[in-house]
Amino acid sequence: MKQVTLLGATGSIGLSTLDVIARHPDQFSVFALTANTQVERLYQQCRAYQPEYAVMVDPQAAEQLQQKLQQAALDTRVLAGIDGLIQVASDKRTDYVMAAIVGAAGLQPTLAAARAGKRVLLANKEALVMSGRLFMDAIKENQAELLPIDSEHNAIFQCIPGRLAGNVKELGVRRILLTGSGGPFRQTPLSQLGAVTPEQAVAHPNWDMGRKISVDSATMMNKGLELIEACWLFDAVPDFIQIVVHPQSVVHSMVEYNDGSVLAQLGQPDMRTPIAHAMAWPARMDSGVDRLDLFDVAHLDFERPDYERFPCLQLAEHAARQSGTAPTILNAANEVAVQAFLDNGLGFTGIADVVKSVLNVMSSRDASDLDTILADDEQARQYAHEYIHQAHTRVK
Ligand code: NDP
Repeated sequence: MKQVTLLGATGSIGLSTLDVIARHPDQFSVFALTANTQVERLYQQCRAYQPEYAVMVDPQAAEQLQQKLQQAALDTRVLAGIDGLIQVASDKRTDYVMAAIVGAAGLQPTLAAARAGKRVLLANKEALVMSGRLFMDAIKENQAELLPIDSEHNAIFQCIPGRLAGNVKELGVRRILLTGSGGPFRQTPLSQLGAVTPEQAVAHPNWDMGRKISVDSATMMNKGLELIEACWLFDAVPDFIQIVVHPQSVVHSMVEYNDGSVLAQLGQPDMRTPIAHAMAWPARMDSGVDRLDLFDVAHLDFERPDYERFPCLQLAEHAARQSGTAPTILNAANEVAVQAFLDNGLGFTGIADVVKSVLNVMSSRDASDLDTILADDEQARQYAHEYIHQAHTRVK
């Protein structure tokens, strides 16, 4: 029986993970569930899964949860704050840690899980984007297992059998083909992009995801973050990875070998497949996902990415080549810009402008310690806020 800590239990990945766990009560038990502010949802999850711990980052939300659990006579212990996240991610009774907090907030608990030698099921790509070297070293030094949950990286992993991480060139891999749907605005006239709304941006054509990653998919920043993620996971340089726009989201990524073979992983666009794969690895188990009907799919399209339409992708590729803290700066500026867009405080095309301006004013530094990474993360957020504020002033 594996004990699972689920960081970000109330989100889209969190719900899919609990769905998979519920199908295998003989193999998995929930040790801890965490959330930020959604008290009612975490409470309902505590009722259903009776974990040892529940963590709410927000202290008031933690108090509310505590009261509700007491009233229901449930003995799940409640912790608050980031220390609570770190505690449950590294508790010696936990075997698997699902890292499904959105954004930079997931970095420290995910790193704690790696340092404690857990099987880390990594959905929180921002953690790896920010601290790739530190994180990969922590995995290696503590004999932790790192399994990618992002469907593309999970697909690549499945196309390189038996290999958890490391340099794929040694295995005869010539190229990684990282696929992405192109999001909801792949064919929208460029002149209309400035006026698209948050509701349009989060309406992804194939995937049902949280709001932040949905906006990242619409700008294709998500693919840029994934490129950086893939470089760390598979010890590759950016030029080793070709991004391929594939609107159907059926081929989740591909690996090309020296002999000309191209291996692909196909499946429904449903995150329960990579989650079940990573949890059961190296075995396989039922995920609840419908089988793929190729007669329904009928055809698969592939296109080159359009950098004029998706400037965020180019900015991310540039940051990936620069390395150091450039990806941290990119990620932080993007998080601020996406939130401003979702709050109707910035236009859609303004997201790339914010990221570009912050990358221009900050210089990339060596990213081998957490203090430097966190300092550049904070500085980039500050610059991004200033840029957005100034843009408003200019408009007025
Ligand atoms: P959601 O927005 O749906 O969920 C985010 C989760 O993180 C919630 O549980 C939320 O709690 C919690 N959270 C938010 N802010 C904080 C914070 N400051 N501190 C602690 N916890 C916090 O996101 P997704 O599930 O869509 O995405 C999670 C991660 O997985 C992201 O990194 C994303 O890129 C990645 N991913 C997601 C995919 C998907 O299909 N959704 C696919 C591939 C990767 P609360 O509910 O209380 O706010």
